[in-house]
Amino acid sequence: MLKVGVLGAAGRMGHTVCVAVDGDPELQLVAAVDPAGEGQKDPAGEGQKQADIGSFVDAGVDVAVDFTTRDAAIEHLRWLAEHGIHAVVGTTGFNDADIEEIRGLFEGDRLLESGVAAPNCIIAPNFAISAVLMMRFAELAAPHFSSAEIIEFHHDKKIDAPSGTALATMRRMEAASQDWNADPTQSVALPGVRGGSGEHGVKVHAVRAEGLVAHQEVILGGAGQSLTIRQDSYDRVSFMPGVLLAVKAVSERPGLTIGLDSLLGI
Ligand code: NAD
Repeated sequence: MLKVGVLGAAGRMGHTVCVAVDGDPELQLVAAVDPAGEGQKDPAGEGQKQADIGSFVDAGVDVAVDFTTRDAAIEHLRWLAEHGIHAVVGTTGFNDADIEEIRGLFEGDRLLESGVAAPNCIIAPNFAISAVLMMRFAELAAPHFSSAEIIEFHHDKKIDAPSGTALATMRRMEAASQDWNADPTQSVALPGVRGGSGEHGVKVHAVRAEGLVAHQEVILGGAGQSLTIRQDSYDRVSFMPGVLLAVKAVSERPGLTIGLDSLLGI
């Protein structure tokens, strides 16, 4: 059985991951770490949540799952790479320099001081299969349209903006096409009303409202037509099939893998 440790175990996503891992017959939840939940029972009801990632060594964790914050996740990944533990990361907010550092930490052909192969890492800005497909469809559609705006909708506790999914969608659409119409706006009555923009002009807007979970629309426009691609995660369980897939696959994916596309074969 694959031994799994969860970082951010007292958080909204981390707790859901603990429950999903505990319910999977191929996986064993052996450690649940979160300073906010120290001493609480872990969701498997067998141990207590720990405050520190150091507990992963005694627990013999094979794969760590991180749903924390950008700063905490970077520290965790440095530690996991050094200790030969595979990582599956759902935390968002990484910039390009962070991704390059993480790529270096999890280089596929590196040996640790102990002589064992360096561990692997999968980072997915969105583990919902519907969102993975939405990003792929947007990327495929991009070269066929001249305007694109992404609107992401999230719950009112989300601290980073835009969402990792919106950023990844924007980057993938701009990699697929750089030929976007210029913004026609010449004056704005409210600062920020036209949202943020990628290097090549794909716009991103972030909505925050109580009651939402995670949703996104990609609106593509062309002469006399538009295409709207919409994805909705109504519940955090929507992310779990993707998380469990990544946990089981990470040992077979050398180095850093970004997104679930290759795991899904799309
Ligand atoms: P949350 O605030 O409910 O949980 C984060 C938890 O991390 C908190 O309990 C906090 O105490 C804990 N934490 C902070 N520092 C820590 C540390 N050093 N060690 C261990 N735990 C630590 O947030 P959430 O809604 O669960 O989201 C967490 C992250 O996951 C965010 O970045 C969010 O954007 C992302 N997210 C990703 C996906 C995806 O599919 N990739 C889906 C939903 C959320």
